[in-house]
Amino acid sequence: MGVFGEGRLSVVVGTDESYPQFKQVWRPKVPMKIKVFTWLLFKERLLMKVYRVKWAVAATTTCELCSAAPETAAHLFCECVFVRRF
Ligand SMILES: [Zn+2]
Repeated sequence: MGVFGEGRLSVVVGTDESYPQFKQVWRPKVPMKIKVFTWLLFKERLLMKVYRVKWAVAATTTCELCSAAPETAAHLFCECVFVRRF
């Protein structure tokens, strides 16, 4: 494990009992970048367009894949018709 080992990362990010699958994120055989990405997804901390527009980094909130809805994490990973084809 790197300088920022799993135990130390768990101390920094804490735990969240509202997500029963939260402990699964930190399974030992999953690469750290996947663990961090999944944790950010659960915590709604991914930089989706709805947030980038608030910070004036993006011009619109519209999903780039389907242009039918705002790009939120729920839309991009679950609801987007483009993503649901896979
Ligand atoms: Zn979409």
